[in-house]
Amino acid sequence: MEQVDCVVIGAGVVGLAVARALALAGREVMVLEAADAIGTQTSSRNSEVIHAGIYYAPGSLKARLCVQGRQMLYAYCAERGIGHQRCGKLLVATSEAQRAQLQGIIDKAAANGVNDLVLLTREQARAMEPQLECVAAVHSPSTGIVDSHALMLAYQGDLENAGGMVVFNSPLALAHVSSGTVILETTDGTVLQAKIVVNAAGLYAQALALRFAGLDAKLVPPSYYAKGNYFTLSGRAPFSRLIYPMPQAAGLGVHLTIDLGGQAKLGPDVQWVDSPDDLVVDPARGDAFYAEVRKYWPSLPDGALIPGYAGIRPKIQAPHEPARDFMIQGPAEHGVPGLVNLFGIESPGLTSSLAIGSHVAAQLLAA
Ligand SMILES: Cc1cc2nc3c(=O)[nH]c(=O)nc-3n(C[C@H](O)[C@H](O)[C@H](O)COP(=O)(O)OP(=O)(O)OC[C@H]3O[C@@H](n4cnc5c(N)ncnc54)[C@H](O)[C@@H]3O)c2cc1C
Repeated sequence: MEQVDCVVIGAGVVGLAVARALALAGREVMVLEAADAIGTQTSSRNSEVIHAGIYYAPGSLKARLCVQGRQMLYAYCAERGIGHQRCGKLLVATSEAQRAQLQGIIDKAAANGVNDLVLLTREQARAMEPQLECVAAVHSPSTGIVDSHALMLAYQGDLENAGGMVVFNSPLALAHVSSGTVILETTDGTVLQAKIVVNAAGLYAQALALRFAGLDAKLVPPSYYAKGNYFTLSGRAPFSRLIYPMPQAAGLGVHLTIDLGGQAKLGPDVQWVDSPDDLVVDPARGDAFYAEVRKYWPSLPDGALIPGYAGIRPKIQAPHEPARDFMIQGPAEHGVPGLVNLFGIESPGLTSSLAIGSHVAAQLLAA
């Protein structure tokens, strides 16, 4: 049986960030990835937005790791030459009822340490983005966009330069956890023994944890899947900032984001689905997009939206239940030394990735 110091399961942006942090701390690290490349799941099916940290409950992991992760991410991208842009975003109220929510958003952001939001009148917002319609808006200058694939390649490079490796086409099948060691078995029958194991399998993290013999199954949260569909905009975007409507219960509303090439996409909406593999975009959902987007961009032309792609939010709460925090479940919670399960790492997981990596490594290496 092969002995490995640390094994991370999943080479998405979060698994790679955790693996990188463990390797930079001097540990021997192997990442087991089911697919034949890094970042083929949720990490390549998102909005690529660097979130400021506005929406999350003060004191929550989402709030703290987003604010810390955003600062780390901007510094890392600048240092490593990773494509990114601090383009800013406008959060728009399109009715009088929504206007009242803007101050609450500013207050919550301030409680999270995000103190740069500016309340704008309709005229001030339209001076920044002439095609925009709204009754008032909030400007977030520290929101941005990032090339998520280049970011993951940089994490993988750091991991490999520190002596770690990613092993592709190696789905973990099951594990046996016991005091001080974890025995892992991949689907091809390879057996490994590790001191530290991090389950960063994203949408499959709960299903995998339920196959860890010795881990109390009652501690594994349920899995729910909130699909987010995107439509791309034909032609160039008439906005230079990201445009967000008011946040909703399970998502941030159908927003307009631009990529580093200036191309715009709209989405994601929220569609609860039964399977983590349900990734086809139904063109009929476009009708609702036109209605939503025209509330803040009335001149969106007919026929401009083209079905794009979908990503699935790994939710740990059912539809209509209140939003839950990231669940970073370590030895203090489940009693198994050396094991961390990452559950419900939805948005802002990309923004938070470096901070999640540091947090998990610190938790495991302190033990
Ligand atoms: C629609 C949408 C929009 C989003 N927008 C943003 C945004 O703008 N900004 C932001 O900060 N965050 C955003 N997010 C969140 C962000 O994309 C995720 O938090 C992040 O990508 C999660 O990364 P991960 O590594 O945990 O999971 P994943 O990227 O899903 O990676 C998990 C990996 O585990 C592998 N795996 C699974 N099972 C096994 C197994 N048994 N053995 C081995 N490997 C396995 C998979 O193949 C996969 O590579 C968004 C998410 C969604 C769904």
